[in-house]
Amino acid sequence: MDLLEYQGKQLFGRHGLAVSDGKAVTTVDDAVAAANEIGYPVVVKAQVLIGGRGKAGGVKLAANEEEAREHATNILGLDIKGHIVRTLWIEYASDIDTEYYASILLDRSAKKPLVMFSVEGGVDIEQVAEETPEKLIKQNVDPLVGLTKEQALDIATKGGAAEDVIDGVADALVALYEVWIEEDASLTEINPLIITPDRKVKALDAKVTLDGNALFRHPENADLGDSANADPIELKAKEQGVTYVKLDGDIGIMGNGAGLVMSTLDVVAQYGGKPANFLDAGGGSDAETVQKAIELILANENVKAVLLNIFGGITRCDEVAKGLVGAFEALKPTVPFVVRLDGTNDVAGRKILEEAALPNVQAATTMDGAAEQVVAAAKGNA
Ligand code: GDP
Ligand code: MN
Repeated sequence: MDLLEYQGKQLFGRHGLAVSDGKAVTTVDDAVAAANEIGYPVVVKAQVLIGGRGKAGGVKLAANEEEAREHATNILGLDIKGHIVRTLWIEYASDIDTEYYASILLDRSAKKPLVMFSVEGGVDIEQVAEETPEKLIKQNVDPLVGLTKEQALDIATKGGAAEDVIDGVADALVALYEVWIEEDASLTEINPLIITPDRKVKALDAKVTLDGNALFRHPENADLGDSANADPIELKAKEQGVTYVKLDGDIGIMGNGAGLVMSTLDVVAQYGGKPANFLDAGGGSDAETVQKAIELILANENVKAVLLNIFGGITRCDEVAKGLVGAFEALKPTVPFVVRLDGTNDVAGRKILEEAALPNVQAATTMDGAAEQVVAAAKGNA
């Protein structure tokens, strides 16, 4: 789960990292009121789950009420790489002497957290990593020990932090690690981590990804994220306990079990198709779950054809067939369906489908064949 900048900053603040106080607002009037209350200069910041807001015109300094109103008006509703700005964060503008970079992420190959630090912050960190990798310090942390002040001092020193702020940078890294561990984050990033003219270390931006599977340990974090911009179908799927991920193609895909769904996506792609979603109905799904899953797939208007790839184990193919028949009765879909039923009760399942004689439903016996058929069906329906 990705957090908006201001939500990340609020977490940072709770763990002792210096951040500016501010206010999240959704209207121009509230933005101006917040700016007046905070006092000028303020910075008006677009809250969207995408980087590079500054370059896109989504971060502006305002010296007075007039400018605050002007920037809030321009930034609200702005489209930043496909993300529409619905929330602004207004904070007291900081004076910047230097911009550093700091982040902590999970290094899967080392099976350890990885701390990254650079004095070349503010800019695109990928560019620093590529062109001047020696300026990006990386160190793994022993998860049983945690990030000690000693290691943090070593990272800040090797990274070339200015002498008089090495201690402050190390404290910031330790706090950032505390956020990472205690909030069950998989990413905590600060770009830029600024040094102010009076040599204070402060997080001017925040990028935080929380592990959704650990949210039960943090009920207070459950409402974070960008719910105003979340895909309504994804929200509905979440409520129904179905794993659904929206993709940008035109073939709706449903399977049972994440592994099967992922390979189905691959095979469809191999035949030149573009999946519209990833939908895992899970093991043991009954007719009702299947019907709801089909509803979710059809709610996406881009879907030109649907592939049901079921390998019956705990899931029974006759239940899936009943769910499909129910979905056709309820929704009367016009897009073509390709259905492959294999495994537990597949004969019974195919019989149910045959008897129902659903319009636009083709049966397939193999996964390859099913993929080929659905790609052709989507093209025919384009
Ligand atoms: P991003 O472009 O999405 O990464 O958004 P940031 O929050 O990192 O802001 C982009 C840039 O705006 C920063 O690198 C700063 O140079 C500038 N900026 C943001 N906040 C302030 C501020 O309080 N004061 C000043 N002077 N500049 C700021
Ligand atoms: Mn940034």
